[in-house]
Amino acid sequence: MPDMQLRIAMISAHSCPMGDLGSRDTGGMNVYIRELAAQLGRLGHTIDVYTRAHDARDPEVVHIGEGARLIHLRAGEVGAIHKLVVYSYLADFTCALESFRKANDLEYDLVHSHYWLSGWAAHLIRPWWRVPHVTMFHTLGAVKNAVAACDDEPELRTETERGLAKECNRIIAATAREKQQLEDYYEASPGRISVIPCGVNLDLFMPANKQAAKTQLELNGRRVALYVGRIERLKGIDHLFQAIAQLRGNRDICLLVVGGDDQSQPEMQRLGKLSEQLGIGDRVHFCGRVKQEDLPQYYAVADVCVVPSLYESFGLVALESLACGTPVVATRVGGMEDIIAPGTGYIVGHDPAEIADGIDRILSSPGFEPSIRDSVTRFGWPNVARSVEQLYTQMLFIGPASGLPV
Ligand code: UDP
Repeated sequence: MPDMQLRIAMISAHSCPMGDLGSRDTGGMNVYIRELAAQLGRLGHTIDVYTRAHDARDPEVVHIGEGARLIHLRAGEVGAIHKLVVYSYLADFTCALESFRKANDLEYDLVHSHYWLSGWAAHLIRPWWRVPHVTMFHTLGAVKNAVAACDDEPELRTETERGLAKECNRIIAATAREKQQLEDYYEASPGRISVIPCGVNLDLFMPANKQAAKTQLELNGRRVALYVGRIERLKGIDHLFQAIAQLRGNRDICLLVVGGDDQSQPEMQRLGKLSEQLGIGDRVHFCGRVKQEDLPQYYAVADVCVVPSLYESFGLVALESLACGTPVVATRVGGMEDIIAPGTGYIVGHDPAEIADGIDRILSSPGFEPSIRDSVTRFGWPNVARSVEQLYTQMLFIGPASGLPV
């Protein structure tokens, strides 16, 4: 296979990869894009990640890492706008993208889009560029509607996803489950889907001294359960609160809820009320958004990390917790079956009683810690980047012979 430098345009139109993690629309996908871009840059490729200008203070071009940069494009007002409104600016976005490319004399070998809005932007740009399109949906509108038993995700989204699933050259799914969902909900052809798991920053997420972390967060002598993530209904935080209220042992446990910003306030207030109604208000602490570089301390302080989600495309938080040596109780979503090996945690159903049972079992069994981190070291981002690089090169240089549509 040719060993050459690839020029990759990534599109993350609605959400900035360098945005504040833990806020309403900024989470796992943003981590994925920034880590993948940085690692592909290290492998010698050039990566330009395009996003919509959302803050007038941001420079047009931001350095992500060696060979990787982020480019803010003007499309609609410069400021936070709802992601569905971004759809109406995608034509402007692609015009701005093409103007930037021409003005800077850039050529790309392929376009890699993230989320359906960016998939649509890539669809608009392809007739001009005539390069292969790789997409990642990160979440699927049809699956969200199915698990929430509602139609919150508009037909515009589900039909756009359905069209993209059929038309783009390649889809990267984070799990075999997502691949199956793409086939079931959108009739995507299995031959077009590659399963490549997400990763974890093993240099950042490392085990630390639990006792010292407890002292620092003033939780000495307390058993601690931890939730980390965006604050939204599909994360299943209601079930976690009900589980905490139902614990048979460990009734003094406190729960740290990390994540949430101003836009998450209504949901946090609702959850605050729920915790009072359940009689656990004094044991639930809303910590707000925490910078990722400070998160290892939270994973260290926790005796158990709980991922109670109704839907998850992968579940980076579970991976980060295990990399820090903290066991996980997670619902059967995303990549949990791949992430949680025996002896590192429990996969449970959505019923709060099952979540409670998982927490109880972890807290009552010593000896969970020593080998937990080893179980996830294969998920380092360099490995993810190499798999994605392999997919790109197969598409570009082997093409039909590989069975990959080009
Ligand atoms: N995160 C963070 N600070 C917070 C909350 C979350 O840095 O206050 C990060 C967390 O480390 C993880 C990501 O946001 O990398 C959430 O990813 P996950 O796959 O768990 O959930 P998603 O956002 O994709 O639903």
